[in-house]
Amino acid sequence: MNQQLLRKLPKVDELLRAPAVEALRGEHPEQTVTDAVRKVIGNLRQGILNGQIDALPDQETLFAQIAGQIRSDVRPSMRTVINGTGIVLHTNLGRACLSEKAAQAASDAARRYSTLEYNVSTGGRGLRYSHVEELICRLTGAESALVVNNNAAAVLLVLSSMTTGGQVPVSRGELVEIGGSFRVPDIMEACGAQLKEVGTTNKTHLFDYERAICPETKALMKVHTSNYRIVGFTEKPTLAEMVELGHKYNLPVIEDLGSGSLVNLEQFGLHDEPTVQDSIRAGVDVVSFSGDKLLGGPQAGIIIGKKQYVDKMKKHPLTRAMRVDKMTLAALESTLRSYDNGTWSDIPTMAMLSASADELKEKAGILCDQLNQAGIPAQLAAVEGQVGGGSVPTQTIPSWAVALEGAVEALEEKLRLGETAIVGRIHNDRYLLDARTLWVEDFPTIVRAVKEALA
Ligand SMILES: *Cc1c(COP(=O)(O)O)cnc(C)c1O
Repeated sequence: MNQQLLRKLPKVDELLRAPAVEALRGEHPEQTVTDAVRKVIGNLRQGILNGQIDALPDQETLFAQIAGQIRSDVRPSMRTVINGTGIVLHTNLGRACLSEKAAQAASDAARRYSTLEYNVSTGGRGLRYSHVEELICRLTGAESALVVNNNAAAVLLVLSSMTTGGQVPVSRGELVEIGGSFRVPDIMEACGAQLKEVGTTNKTHLFDYERAICPETKALMKVHTSNYRIVGFTEKPTLAEMVELGHKYNLPVIEDLGSGSLVNLEQFGLHDEPTVQDSIRAGVDVVSFSGDKLLGGPQAGIIIGKKQYVDKMKKHPLTRAMRVDKMTLAALESTLRSYDNGTWSDIPTMAMLSASADELKEKAGILCDQLNQAGIPAQLAAVEGQVGGGSVPTQTIPSWAVALEGAVEALEEKLRLGETAIVGRIHNDRYLLDARTLWVEDFPTIVRAVKEALA
């Protein structure tokens, strides 16, 4: 039976000569069409061999499969996703969305020549980092700043330039692993420094750090436990206390702040996320944080602190290997200017995090109405969202979603695989699209996709 079917499989050459496929060759490169035909035949052969196919499709279906294969092969792999998860900083979906202005600045930098390393006043060479350094210093209160590719690179550079060949005490409770094998102990080793664990998982006292200080100690380090919290019977010294201790022994204090918000998130009901300004005010010598977490800008690692340390980093050979490109710098400058001129609510991350439950209910209501008008029985649902991106890990934020019932697994898959991928979540047998991370202008697309998926 299988052998018979396999013998009946059309040949690649035959299919390529069929008029319907011939027409596709007028629209796409030869190789694209040939590859698609091979893939479709290959899939059929595989299906026959593992018993999933017991009859060959008719010509029309076969041609449709080839056309579909071509469509999927030529469309961009990186494309827009409609984020209905409610997770504002979704690392898999690209973390922070840039503001219109920042995206425009990146686009201009990409398409046109720029002042990247050119000083228009002198007509001579300018400095790549000058576009953002002053702004960062003004916003954070730091003396000096440097921007690299991401915060992982920033930590690597900080440790490499300040601690190589020495010891660095870090609290046991702060030996963080961030996704993608970024672990504090491994980074330390890669920088040629020796990590000295101090304290216990739940409690680390100032005297634990003090006892660990020896002639080999190069710095004290604090790592923000951005993606987890140790709660209950816990204790750790304040930043100011660590700074006092460090300086008593002539040691710099460095901090990996992770998210690094410039705005106090308490005002949105989000607790325990320190601001960058807090760290500088406490006297920390060098602080690093991400550009695309709570800051809401492009992927970048921002290093700020005392001039003597940052100057050394600027000359470090690693810096050139970690440098940011012009699009990143343009987007970062624009994002920082929004903070500087008080328009940071234009930054999508901030707008999403500051949206109140009432506003979100109204937004979800608009989508719900549009779905209902299209004959789809959607309902409003109160849900709990997350910040994501390893920020504010223990807290959920009240939000509103549109809920769909029925064959939710199939619905989830169809929406995910659709022309524009829609990513929602299933909770208690309901398919949920959280209004917090949705764009109102995407609602017609969502309605169309849901209608098609349910048809
Ligand atoms: C996210 C994070 C990092 C890594 O930052 P990237 O910008 O993703 O490279 C490092 N340390 C902490 C504490 C973090 O939260």
